[in-house]
Amino acid sequence: MPSEIKPICGLERIKLSEAVPLKTPFTLFVFPTTYCNFRCNYCGHSLGAEKMKEQYGFTPQQMPMSTYKKILEQLKDFPDRLKLLSLTGHGEPLLNQQLPDMVRMAKDADIAERVEIITNASLLNHNVALRMIDAGLDTLRISLQGISSKKYREVCGVNLDFNELTENIRFFYEHKRSCEVFVKVMDVALNPGEDEKFYDIFRDISDRMYVERCRPVYSGVNYSEKSCITADRYGRTHTKRDVCPLAFFMLGIFPDGDVEPCDTIYKPVVPGNVNESSLFEIWNGAKLKEFRIQQLNGKRYDNPKCATCCAPDDVSHPEDSLDDDAPAILNRLNRSES
Ligand code: SF4
Ligand code: SF4
Repeated sequence: MPSEIKPICGLERIKLSEAVPLKTPFTLFVFPTTYCNFRCNYCGHSLGAEKMKEQYGFTPQQMPMSTYKKILEQLKDFPDRLKLLSLTGHGEPLLNQQLPDMVRMAKDADIAERVEIITNASLLNHNVALRMIDAGLDTLRISLQGISSKKYREVCGVNLDFNELTENIRFFYEHKRSCEVFVKVMDVALNPGEDEKFYDIFRDISDRMYVERCRPVYSGVNYSEKSCITADRYGRTHTKRDVCPLAFFMLGIFPDGDVEPCDTIYKPVVPGNVNESSLFEIWNGAKLKEFRIQQLNGKRYDNPKCATCCAPDDVSHPEDSLDDDAPAILNRLNRSES
């Protein structure tokens, strides 16, 4: 079946304001590694290790398997399964060679409806592809940085054979079983008029494909000529949100076990570490509650990390908006305490 032109995110959404507070997070991002083999010019990694540390307090790390096993075990404390476990975040997940094992373990533990990765696909050779498919991966999201080797040199500073990359994606697609294959490219990584060429290349070797808008996601990166600020990454009119919806339905976990209420590089608050407390305690704990109340009270910008972050206005969908219902949610949150 030919690929659909559609955003590669989850599109079947419920009205978040009617569902919160959630007993179980919908989504968990576990960052298997925060190393990357690319330096895309719109990403924090383009700043280099030293500047990244200065800008975000960020040092690349690999998640130990012992930490990952703890996470899977702790997820069993929640009453429901996650809707999504994404083994992704702030690095190239395939640089963690245990990624296929991580997928298999998550599938065996049955803690999520879907397990996905988001990858630049540069390491997706045939052997890795078969291991990921065999492990039971549900969704492979591929983020491209151009449709020629020349563009990869320009945008990511890497020598990559684009034909080989495309062939590897074709191989995955032809062997994928029930796994969905989504491919997107950043608009800034295409030359003017190249959209159709992108769709032509991936029409028969993906289930969904999309040209995404570049947004100023990383503070400290110069976006002057690259980024769109009048629309979100899906091209919808940009809406400034007071309450960050992400903090109400998801968690992110860094390789060292630190938990954050989103999947950004910023760590606006660390409500716990999985090596010291359980995810259930963290999700229901005082620190995260205080952070959510601050958001609902319209004080998002009092948190210096949230103040520079565009994720609530960029990645969150209209169904996720909590602004109009903030007082009612605040009441419910306070009632859930008693
Ligand atoms: S591949 Fe992804 S994580 Fe790596 S530099 Fe590019 S955008 Fe950043
Ligand atoms: S505003 Fe940004 S940093 Fe703050 S919780 Fe939301 S996504 Fe995270």
